[in-house]
Amino acid sequence: MPRPIRAVVNPAAIAFNVNKIKQLLPKSLVMPVVKANAYGHGLERIFAGLMNADALAILEIEGAARLRQLGWSKPIVLLEGCFDAADLQTAIELKCDWVVHNDAQLRDLEVLAQRPLAHKPQIYLKFNTGMNRLGFQEPQTSTAIAWLDQFTSRNGWPCPVLMTHFANADEAQPRQREPMAQSQFDRLIRVKPVRWQSSLGNSAGCLNFPELAGDIVRPGICIYGATPGPNAAANYELKPAMTFSSQIIAIQSVKQGDTVGYGSRWQVLADGRIAVVACGYADGYPRHAPDGTPTWVEGQVAPVAGRVSMDMMTVDVSSIPNAQVGSSVELWGEHIPVDVVADRCGTIGYELLCAIAPRVPFQVVSKD
Ligand SMILES: *Cc1c(COP(=O)(O)O)cnc(C)c1O
Repeated sequence: MPRPIRAVVNPAAIAFNVNKIKQLLPKSLVMPVVKANAYGHGLERIFAGLMNADALAILEIEGAARLRQLGWSKPIVLLEGCFDAADLQTAIELKCDWVVHNDAQLRDLEVLAQRPLAHKPQIYLKFNTGMNRLGFQEPQTSTAIAWLDQFTSRNGWPCPVLMTHFANADEAQPRQREPMAQSQFDRLIRVKPVRWQSSLGNSAGCLNFPELAGDIVRPGICIYGATPGPNAAANYELKPAMTFSSQIIAIQSVKQGDTVGYGSRWQVLADGRIAVVACGYADGYPRHAPDGTPTWVEGQVAPVAGRVSMDMMTVDVSSIPNAQVGSSVELWGEHIPVDVVADRCGTIGYELLCAIAPRVPFQVVSKD
């Protein structure tokens, strides 16, 4: 029998979350972000849940090719643009649109327009409004806008989109204005030609200040039912698309004063029971999970007790009499939000979802 660990992915939850964002932003086009193999869920596994999306955003050109093979015929936007001439060629063949964030990428367009194209891409011009990662700085942006506006009209390309990325959106509380986001929005609107569309909102922007999210939104993490900050997804009525679970493979009765695991980190305060779970850091569960990080066993929270090892972890089931060998253990999912586990571990849900190890078998179960 294979180890009982598994990651179950639910495309119906993805569809639910896409619709949630559409309801929240009825005037925006919703373009879920499916980079990093759909945030670790698997593009093919969740694809059925994306049908109501207006477009998809991705970084990896191989991912764009997989989406076309799966039958996606609506727009695909390459979020970091094309990396070289071969990429440009492939992007055209795959009928992708893409981001242009520097002068070299802008000059590439001129070369491209010198020949007849089977697909005229819509260009997302990236404006660096304060994140200081990708994009044109303020004065160059106006020049680039003027040039691109003229270039696209002259060559019969679609009207471009002016895009930026929020820096602090994940810090904000639900429905609370975040001053940096407001200033980034204002800077974008100041230079945007009227006929161009805008694209600002990531998940945090969509959830916390939809009025600043723009015409085309790029929700990532919320599509998978997690949130950009420690705010649990249930507060936004999102459904987790992944349940990571395993089983108890042994139970140890422990006495007060005993210790559990490497480094004897967990010290037993009262006689009780420790369950050994078939999941470790080689499966993608964070080794630095502190004691007390919740798991879900027989309808109750079972806290991590002792250091996570490569293939196993230990949880305290002293107050869960039904816990026995073979009991299912949810590591994150429906009952234990990945955001909560991540917060305990000093990281964000994104990192945990993307880090499920290759040895973990995946299953797809579509349930509403
Ligand atoms: C990843 C990404 C997003 C999605 O961000 P979330 O926080 O997951 O919603 C949006 N825009 C760009 C440019 C990205 O790279």
